[in-house]
Amino acid sequence: MRDVVVVGGGSAGCALAGRLGPRALLLEAGPVSGLPELLDATSLAATAPDHPRNWAHEVLLRPGRPAVVPRGLGLGGSSAINGANWVRATRSEEWGPGWSWDDLLPFYERSESDPLHGTTGPVPVRRPSGDLLHPAASRFLDAARRLGFAAEPDKNAGAAPGAGVVPTNSVDGVRIDAATAYLGGEGGPAVRGDAPVDRVLFDGDRARGVLLADGEVVEAGEVVLAAGAVGTPRLLLRSGIGPGLRVDLPVGVDFSDHPAVFLPFAADDPPAHPHAPGSQVALNWDAGADPAGDVEVLAFVRPFAPGGPLHLMCALQHPDSRGLLTLDRIEYRYLRTEHDRRRLRHAIRTAADLLRAGVGTRVGPDGGVLGNDRTLDAWIADHLTTSVHLCGTAAIGRVVDPALRVLGVEGLRVADTSVLPTVPRRGPSATAVAIGERAAELVRG
Ligand SMILES: Cc1cc2nc3c(=O)[nH]c(=O)nc-3n(C[C@H](O)[C@H](O)[C@H](O)COP(=O)(O)OP(=O)(O)OC[C@H]3O[C@@H](n4cnc5c(N)ncnc54)[C@H](O)[C@@H]3O)c2cc1C
Repeated sequence: MRDVVVVGGGSAGCALAGRLGPRALLLEAGPVSGLPELLDATSLAATAPDHPRNWAHEVLLRPGRPAVVPRGLGLGGSSAINGANWVRATRSEEWGPGWSWDDLLPFYERSESDPLHGTTGPVPVRRPSGDLLHPAASRFLDAARRLGFAAEPDKNAGAAPGAGVVPTNSVDGVRIDAATAYLGGEGGPAVRGDAPVDRVLFDGDRARGVLLADGEVVEAGEVVLAAGAVGTPRLLLRSGIGPGLRVDLPVGVDFSDHPAVFLPFAADDPPAHPHAPGSQVALNWDAGADPAGDVEVLAFVRPFAPGGPLHLMCALQHPDSRGLLTLDRIEYRYLRTEHDRRRLRHAIRTAADLLRAGVGTRVGPDGGVLGNDRTLDAWIADHLTTSVHLCGTAAIGRVVDPALRVLGVEGLRVADTSVLPTVPRRGPSATAVAIGERAAELVRG
């Protein structure tokens, strides 16, 4: 029997299993082998719905707005296909007792190798500069300054929001995913790929192991679900834990994620340096009364298709609206409140101001659409997407306790972004790894 079985080899699961070492068995639904194209951090090729390393979940962003949302399948999970932006959460997140920014700081530090912070963890953190900083990204920083926004030179310092370069966990254009960072060395955990888990098995209220989809039973002293914010709640639901089930907990209820739209623009610049990160600079600020910055504009300096425009992604980082996940549905229920709609309009209009202040030429929508709330809402409805940062489907305080133990049972924890009651105001990749680091300490006791 294994001491600990970790289900899911993504951002958090690789960090957790890597830190636990040989006492852990890591079970990953997808393949263990890498694909050369996944190393290219400048590409988001694996987000294509038919890519073999993409779960490609069908979702509803709003009534009448279906979408196919990517998630990584295979060792490394979403960290193997994502944008490689490595940004810590803000100091203002409120995730429960022992889950403040200060509480998580040692785990961010433990994970990172960042020359700016003098840390030596397994994930290299770099910031684009010199040739790697695209001219449009430099103009973005200048424009933000001219419009009166504060500078945020280190987005991982826990300081006030502003405009600055986005740290990346890529080096010379190579994506360093969580598997590469945590599972390469000697003394690692046992790892099994192509091992989708169907459910958790119990003796009474105590988890005794997991049932694989092919019928194999794997016994374990403790089970930790790290199957991500979609996989983990679905495992819980199939295990009889969820609304109205044997263990009645609000699994999948009230999740949050960042609603976003892309504003296309043209710029007369040479193509980005071959190793330059695709998204390079971001402006975070406060559209209302949120000192941590509840809106973001992120500059994408590579066209999504050859010859196409560049983009500013405008996103709501601290939405009111909450979603619902069940075994067969994922409903984001985005932009249900006027407060959310007002802040996203503000983000888009600010992005348009940045373009006008010298970043580039807006390709759409036209000024008439931008100037009117009703027409802008209609344009948003037609262009709405998600940042793919889903969190909160097995939240601390609702489904797990602050030690990440599932309430009402024993021997079962969750360690991935499912546990964050609200999505961080920045991308969750660094936080997912910090959760894995923290979970290792909790499991070790
Ligand atoms: C396309 C894309 C771009 C993104 N870009 C960024 C970015 O640039 N910066 C940022 O901060 N965030 C980004 N994110 C979000 C970030 O990558 C994720 O929030 C983070 O990686 C989630 O980590 P996780 O450990 O919770 O889940 P994941 O990394 O998704 O890991 C879950 C793992 O569990 C496995 N699994 C699922 N079900 C089962 C099962 N039943 N049995 C066994 N294994 C299972 C999956 O295959 C996967 O390997 C992006 C996400 C995507 C999809």
